[in-house]
Amino acid sequence: MPLLAFHIHINGIVQGVGFRPYIYNLAIEHQLNGWVCNSANGVDIEVTGDSDSIHEFLQEIPQSTPPLAQIDSMETNEIELENFTGFNIIRSINIATDFIPISPDVAICENCLKELMDPKDRRYRYPFINCTNCGPRFTIIKEIPYDRPFTTMADFEMCSNCQAEYENPQDRRFHAQPIACPDCGPMVWFENRTGQKLAENDQAIYLARQYLKEGKIIAIKGLGGFHLACDATNSDAVRKLRERKNRTDKPFALMAPNVETIRQFADVSNPAIALLTSPQAPIVLMPKIEGTKIVDSIAPHQSNLGFMLPYTPLHQLMIEPELDFPSALVMTSGNHSEEPILHENIKAREGLSTLADGFLLHDRPIHIRIDDSVLSIIENKPYPIRRARGYAPNPIRLTQSVPQILAVGPQMKNTFCLTREKYAFLSHYIGEMENWETYKDFQKSIEHYERLFRINPEIIAHDMHPDYLSTRYANERASEGKLPTVPVQHHHAHLAAALMENKLPPEEYVGGLIFDGTGYGSDGTIWGGEVLIGNCQSFDRLYFLKPVPLPGGDVSIQKPARMALSTLWSYKLDWEENLPPVQALNPVERALLKEQLEKKINTPLTSSMGRLFDVVSALLGVRETITYEAQAAIELESLVDQQEFGYYPFEIEGQEINLRSMLSRILEDINNQVSKPSISARFHNTIAQISLSMSAQIEKEHQIDHIVLSGGVWQNLTLLRKTLSLLRKNGYHPIIHHQMPPNDGCVAFGQAMVAAYRYQIGKE
Ligand code: ZN
Ligand code: ZN
Ligand code: FE
Repeated sequence: MPLLAFHIHINGIVQGVGFRPYIYNLAIEHQLNGWVCNSANGVDIEVTGDSDSIHEFLQEIPQSTPPLAQIDSMETNEIELENFTGFNIIRSINIATDFIPISPDVAICENCLKELMDPKDRRYRYPFINCTNCGPRFTIIKEIPYDRPFTTMADFEMCSNCQAEYENPQDRRFHAQPIACPDCGPMVWFENRTGQKLAENDQAIYLARQYLKEGKIIAIKGLGGFHLACDATNSDAVRKLRERKNRTDKPFALMAPNVETIRQFADVSNPAIALLTSPQAPIVLMPKIEGTKIVDSIAPHQSNLGFMLPYTPLHQLMIEPELDFPSALVMTSGNHSEEPILHENIKAREGLSTLADGFLLHDRPIHIRIDDSVLSIIENKPYPIRRARGYAPNPIRLTQSVPQILAVGPQMKNTFCLTREKYAFLSHYIGEMENWETYKDFQKSIEHYERLFRINPEIIAHDMHPDYLSTRYANERASEGKLPTVPVQHHHAHLAAALMENKLPPEEYVGGLIFDGTGYGSDGTIWGGEVLIGNCQSFDRLYFLKPVPLPGGDVSIQKPARMALSTLWSYKLDWEENLPPVQALNPVERALLKEQLEKKINTPLTSSMGRLFDVVSALLGVRETITYEAQAAIELESLVDQQEFGYYPFEIEGQEINLRSMLSRILEDINNQVSKPSISARFHNTIAQISLSMSAQIEKEHQIDHIVLSGGVWQNLTLLRKTLSLLRKNGYHPIIHHQMPPNDGCVAFGQAMVAAYRYQIGKE
C-alpha cells in the first residue's frame, strides 16, 4: 500500500469545541501519524499513512464532528512525505492577520450536569464545572487563538488532576480552556449589601437561597453579567424590585428549574422546549396561563411570559427544586434602567447596592458583558427578539465574499456588524444608544470584535440620521482613517437584512413591508409605515401611511394619547369628549396641543406604523402613557379576539395609505360599545389586509411576489400570523427573519450588506 501525506485546513467553529481531540482520536483509529493544531484561522492537520486509511479519515472528518463544531470549509492538499512519530496535538500557531469564528457561550451539558449532582464526583456541587462541550466561551475570551492564557481563566493555575484531564485526548475535558475544580478554580461567596462576606462556596448558595425564600432581592453574578433575582411568586418581593429598579410595567424574565415547572405557568410548545433546552438556552416567550402562582405584576397586561432554564452550574444550584423554595425566580438584568448590564464585582457592588439585599459573587472575571437572548416562535421556528448570549458572536454566513466593513447600526436596540470574507459578525445586543454608559460599551465592543476577528474596516456604513451617536462615531472613525462612508436609509437596511439573511441574491428586487416605530427618511421626515421595493443596492418608496404630525417629537412617543389626538386632528376627526385620549389630557393641555398642531410648532411628520398602533391603543383607552417601548401596542395585541375576522375599510390615494375610513369606523365602534377585543382584532385584521393589498400593488407594478416583512411592528405575532397566512393564501412569498430580530437589531447587518454591494459586489 503506497504511503501518502496530506495537509488539511479547516475553517469554521473548530476551536474550543473539542475539535482537536476529535481529529486526534480519528487519526489514531486510522493508524495515521502526524499532528493537529489550532491556527488563528481554523485548524491545521498533517497526516501520513496508507492511502486507503487517509481517504477514509478525510471522508469521516465531517461526519461525526463534536456537537458545537461547525465546518465551513475544508481544504486538502497532498504534500511531500514526512517522518512523523505517532499523532500529536501541537501548540497553536498565531498568525496576526488570520481569524476564526469564536464559539458563543454554551449552556451546561448533560454530562456536566450529572457530575454536578453526583456526590461521588470530585466536582460535586462545584458551580464552575464545564467541559469541551459546554461552559463559558465568548464572555471570557480576551484574544485569539482560544487558549487559556488568553482568557479570564489565565490567573487560575490548574491543579494536577485538572492538568491531567486537560492533557488527555481521551478525556471530555481535553483542552477545555475554562477547566476548573474546587481545588484550583473560581469560587463563589455571598456578601450583604454593605460588602461584608457572609458565606463561601456551598454555604453561599444556601444563604442566597435563604434570602430568596424570605422575599429578598439578590444580585447574582452569572455568565454575561449580573442578574437581580427574587421570588416570582411573591408579590411583595416583585413590587419591591419594581420600586427599587424604578420599572413600573416592563416585563421581567423568569427562570424555572425545568420544563415541567414552566408548564404550570405557560403553554410550552415542542419548538419552545427545543429552544429552552438548546445549548443557547435563551429566554423564550410563551403564552401565559392565567391564574397561576406567578404574580401578575411580572408581566402586567401581557399575554406572554419569558422563561429560561438554568444555563450555568451556578444557576442550577441556585434554583434546585426544594419544597419551600420558589418554583420560579425573576431574573432581570442587573443594571439601572436602559444602561448596560453590570459585569464587574466592584461596579456591581457600587451600582446595585440600592437594588439588592445581598450579592452572590464569584471571582471568574467576565471579559465582555452580554445579555440573555430573547426569542419568540413563529410557525414552529425561532423568531429572535434580542440576539445576545448563546448566539453572538456566531457570524451570519454570506454566499459571497465581502470587503471588511464596519456598520455601526441604529440608535435604538443597537447592534453593530463587522464583515470579513463570507462572514458577517453581527454583534450581540448593545442597547439604547442614549446614555454615556451604553455609548462607551458600544465603542469598547467594536474594538473587541475588531481585535478578535482581525478586522480592519475599509468602509464604514451608518444610518442617515445625522445626530445618532452611532452616526457620529462612524464619521469620526471615517475621518481618522480616511475611510469612505455609506449612509444607509433605515428601512432600506431592514429590507437588505431580511434579503441577505435569507440568502437571496443581493441584486434581486423584493417588495418590503417595513413597519416600525422610527427611521430617518430620505426626505428628512420620520418614516415607519413603508412599502418599498429594493435590493442591496437601492430602493424605491412605493407607498406609505399618510404622514401625521408628531407633536413635540419624543413626547408623543411616550404619550400615545397625544398621538391619538394629533392623528384625529390630522384626519379632521373630532376630539369627542368621551374618548379616552381626550379624557387623558386636561382642557388646557388640549388647547395647547391644538394650537401647537395648527401653528405647526415642533410637529415633525411621521408615517410610523408603530405610532398607529399607539393611536388605536389610546383610542380604546388601553394605554394613554407608556413606561417602556411598544407597551401600548403590546397591550393592544394582548386583547385581540381570535374569533373576530372583520376589518375596516382604507383607501390608497396616490402613494398614501389613507386611514380616515378606518379611524372613523373605530370611533363608531367605540360609540356603539363594541368590545375592545373585537376592535383590536378588526384593527389587526385591517393592517394584515393593507399588507395584502400592498403586496398586490407590488406584484401588479413590478411583477415581484417576494415580500419582506421587517421592522419592530412585526414582533407582534398576532399581526404576523394573520399577514403570513393572508399573503400565502394569495400566492405571495413572505420573507421573515429567523437569525436576527425583525426590530432594529437587524439594521446593522442590513447597513453592512448595502455597503458591501455598493463597494464590491456591484462593481464586478
Ligand atoms: Zn459539559
Ligand atoms: Zn483543579
Ligand atoms: Fe427600524
